[in-house]
Amino acid sequence: MAKVVPLFSGSKGNSYYIGSSGEGVLIDAGRSCKQLEQALELAGVDVRSIGAVFVTHEHTDHCQGLRVFAKKHNLRVYASQGTLLAMEEKGLVTAENMTEVIEDSVAVGNMNIVRRDTPHDARESCCFQVTAPDGRRAVIATDMGVMTEPVRELICSSDFAVVESNHDVRMLQLGPYPYVLKRRILSDKGHLSNESCAAELGEFVRCGVSRLMLGHLSEQNNIPELALNTSLDVLKAMGMKPGLDFTLETAAPVGGTKIVSF
Ligand SMILES: [Zn+2]
Ligand SMILES: [Zn+2]
Repeated sequence: MAKVVPLFSGSKGNSYYIGSSGEGVLIDAGRSCKQLEQALELAGVDVRSIGAVFVTHEHTDHCQGLRVFAKKHNLRVYASQGTLLAMEEKGLVTAENMTEVIEDSVAVGNMNIVRRDTPHDARESCCFQVTAPDGRRAVIATDMGVMTEPVRELICSSDFAVVESNHDVRMLQLGPYPYVLKRRILSDKGHLSNESCAAELGEFVRCGVSRLMLGHLSEQNNIPELALNTSLDVLKAMGMKPGLDFTLETAAPVGGTKIVSF
């Protein structure tokens, strides 16, 4: 059975295991090697089942533990050319790591991983869809200022999706962040708000994505219940029934041990 384990989600680190009980891949490695290992163990995932690590972009909340983790466990690192170069410049990967550019898609074991670019303030950020050994598909779509048609299509062809619901626009505007940072987050290359996320989910449910998870929630500018209710209200207003037409939850920010079968 296909499963996703959202280990970490948010500005303090991001990492997801996707696969089956026998094999899987890690999307992002944004915590220390030790923390990643501990989280995997708590979730009951054997680190030896990981076939490769995919990195969405060079921000440290997505690749902090990458260099050590990938070297220790002898794992190939896949990312866009721009992300690999940016990580090399910052020493986040070194010559000791096995790296490879993913263009459109790549096979790892009995899985297939598809890449689509995301609009974000990074060199060449992207998101990934993983087809698990049993054919089920999961996508992690966070760190994007706006939703794009190619990412929408990728999500629509998935069974499970993590979609970014980063901030409540009003909380961000009234909050303590400096003006420049607020502008960056709200820009087309920043992060997707609760409101923008909610506006997308109806289409995803309609095209058959029955398991939805909100990810990369800001601790400063969001509240999990607010993110959930913003999306739930929109879906219910469209006549869609939670538990029947879809499931919706938020990803735990730290050390998530919940295994989501899909
Ligand atoms: Zn991030
Ligand atoms: Zn980022």
